[in-house]
Amino acid sequence: MSTLKYSDRLNKLPPYLFVEIDRKKKKLLDEGVDIIDLGVGDPDYPTPKHIIAAGKKALQKAENHRYPFGVGLRKLREVIAEWYKQRFNVSLQPDSEIISLLGSKEGIGHIHLGFVNPGDVVLIPEPGYPVYSGATILAGGVSHFMPLVEENDFLPDFGSIPDEVLKKAKLLFINYPNNPTAGVAGKEFFRQVVDVARKYDIIVCHDAAYSEIYYDNKKPVSFLEVEGAKEVGIEFHSLSKTYNMTGWRIGWACGNSDILKGLTKVKENIDSGVFQSIQEAAIAALSGSQDCVEKMRGIYQERRDVLLDGLKSLGWQVKKPAATFYVWIKVPKGYNSIDTSGIILEKACVVTTPGVGFGPSGEGYIRIALTVDKKRIKEAVKRIKKIKW
Ligand SMILES: *Cc1c(COP(=O)(O)O)cnc(C)c1O
Repeated sequence: MSTLKYSDRLNKLPPYLFVEIDRKKKKLLDEGVDIIDLGVGDPDYPTPKHIIAAGKKALQKAENHRYPFGVGLRKLREVIAEWYKQRFNVSLQPDSEIISLLGSKEGIGHIHLGFVNPGDVVLIPEPGYPVYSGATILAGGVSHFMPLVEENDFLPDFGSIPDEVLKKAKLLFINYPNNPTAGVAGKEFFRQVVDVARKYDIIVCHDAAYSEIYYDNKKPVSFLEVEGAKEVGIEFHSLSKTYNMTGWRIGWACGNSDILKGLTKVKENIDSGVFQSIQEAAIAALSGSQDCVEKMRGIYQERRDVLLDGLKSLGWQVKKPAATFYVWIKVPKGYNSIDTSGIILEKACVVTTPGVGFGPSGEGYIRIALTVDKKRIKEAVKRIKKIKW
């Protein structure tokens, strides 16, 4: 079609930054090279058996073959409320303060359509999950990026955002534990967020996809734990990382009921809810034994320690992540993040993600995902060790 024209909003989406890495990876794979992929943030273990069993059983029931009820089964919302109470000591009303999502990405990508008018500002952390800014562009909004730098513990500095930007801001995205920096936030920071949101009338969207991937028993806190949070924001949660369910597509948003109403209205015009069998699986995941999650944390922690020991022996500067399954690593002096990932791929056949792909402040770093077993991590380090920089 010679006259085919994409919309302005599609044309405004930024170019995909991992083209070159993907091309090199594909070429090596085609050559039959043994690649160790430390790039993808997708758990390598299957979904725990009892969760699959619950989904399977639900699949047999005819009532689950029909359109699901929009915001999710009442039972699922009750189970989420119970889980929240146990985990964070936060009370949520199942009827008005929780909605199910087709994966948290779906809600994170649609919330803009409920609140952002063309020209409105959305505050976005960078480096960060690309959906925050992609969805801003699709909604006609303007992204204002908040750099996350090591000197500030990978927390945004609200004091450095100009007043006129804050006045135009409709949404504020934050994400802790953070992808890709592995930064964590405490209540002190969340209190600051509530203050800013109140002062400037901004809706807070906290992406808590990694709340259960933590180490050394240091449990991350919920944004909703701090006073006033429920008046200004919502929190996005996902079953993807916690229960190795990335392919199932289920998550939820919870918090302020009026904000959730806006998101629900958008969703009513786009989707018809999560397949009920998957909701049944989620009920089993959240209400059943959490031993499987504890076990996964143990596995990631072991991998983390193996990787860090290995990188230390290379003389690399690495901060031990307290949460997430990512390690955010400073590149060798004299190289940028794209060069570093490219060299590691070509010389060691190990895939890493260049930090700059997540935003300009990611320059100088690469991200490694702990989603391969420790034997392979050891092998990757051994290969990287042989590189002459
Ligand atoms: C993986 C991820 C998500 C999305 O998870 P879903 O599978 O859509 O629930 C959201 N935010 C961040 C930062 C992630 O890394």
